[in-house]
Amino acid sequence: MSRIAHRGRIAHMLRDPGSTGDATAIAYFADGCLLVENGLVVACDHWDKVLPDADNWQIINHDDALILPGFVDTHVHYPQSDIIGGYGEHLMHWLDNYAFPVEQKIGTDLEYAANVAEFFIEQSLQNGTTSALVFATVHQHSVDAIFEAALAKNMRLIAGKVLMDRNAPEDLCETVEQGNIATQKLIEKWHGKARLGYAITPRFAPTSTMQQLLAAGELLQANQQVLMHTHLSENKKEIELVGELFPDCADYLEVYEKAGLLCERSVFAHCVHLSSSEQQRIAKAGASIAFCPTSNLFLGSGLFDLRAARNCGINVGLGTDIGAGTSFSMLSTQMEAYKVGQLQGDSLHPFEALYLATLGGAKALHVEDKIGNFASGKEADFVVLDLKATKILARRTANDPDIRELLFVLSVLGSSDTVLQTWLAGERVV
Ligand SMILES: [Zn+2]
Repeated sequence: MSRIAHRGRIAHMLRDPGSTGDATAIAYFADGCLLVENGLVVACDHWDKVLPDADNWQIINHDDALILPGFVDTHVHYPQSDIIGGYGEHLMHWLDNYAFPVEQKIGTDLEYAANVAEFFIEQSLQNGTTSALVFATVHQHSVDAIFEAALAKNMRLIAGKVLMDRNAPEDLCETVEQGNIATQKLIEKWHGKARLGYAITPRFAPTSTMQQLLAAGELLQANQQVLMHTHLSENKKEIELVGELFPDCADYLEVYEKAGLLCERSVFAHCVHLSSSEQQRIAKAGASIAFCPTSNLFLGSGLFDLRAARNCGINVGLGTDIGAGTSFSMLSTQMEAYKVGQLQGDSLHPFEALYLATLGGAKALHVEDKIGNFASGKEADFVVLDLKATKILARRTANDPDIRELLFVLSVLGSSDTVLQTWLAGERVV
């Protein structure tokens, strides 16, 4: 029996605060108590409302550090951890010159695959990311590697084997049947094991034939608990290519619709150039979007219209999209999301940013009943942020700003250096 009372500043989102940052949607305790029993949250409140007795509870005092729910990264490629910062490319060239070569290396070198997977998990945790939806490569062992690394830390992680059968190097392509068999095997092996989940993962429309996408749709039907994870409408050249490859489809989303890949378990990364019809169809299906601001800016893909997507009711989470994304930090990712909004006349409220990075991300991945905030019964995944981590942060927070300003300053000045501790299901891992 493990019973720990964490004392410190604590904030978490109770629900979606919307674009105005509804202050009743956040709970903030300047002197708070997070009670964790056997890895689950029992209560979260003001310290003097809870007052755990020291005979029954181990008390950990975090002083004036800030405890937040662990961050949820809704779109990331672990094999690309080693290619962050590939210079001067747009999406299609970047895939050829950086992404595919490193994915080929994963295919031939099992030791390297395991090493990158461990490095990725370590980096995520050091940045306070406690859950993620992850692309592996086409190779089965690449999925084993990331699940093994996550399992060793008891991390809640969803991943999948990439499906490609054209328009990629030959050794990264396979037949429809090979992809199907491998995917089904991996679902049986990993889905539901400890805190792991599976996502059927066609890379994107240009690298699959309609036959492969249809087969993926059938797998999604046959496995009602798993997610579907792919890219959509990231870059204008990509959209043109999809138009050429699938002349029967009126727009990009229709390719996935025809294949049976649009449903409430679908997560689409990017969605930078969606038409309003596409947005409405995603909303109607109850599917989710992973907004990846550092990647969209880095590859020059464009500015995601968060407000339009959220206004039509789409679940949105934030994604780092490592390695086209430029930071493992979900604090930095919140900041870049803010800048993308600024350029479109929409200032992302700090409460909404925290929501997207925690509870909103959990909702996008269908795990909001398990993680995302400190509601009682949820798994105790959280991060402890040091407000004095750097000299500038210490000076900037010395006047004891309110929680709205504090969260915003953390997104501007915070990084992995700010993460003092990370806890997964009540166990300290950083
Ligand atoms: Zn991606």
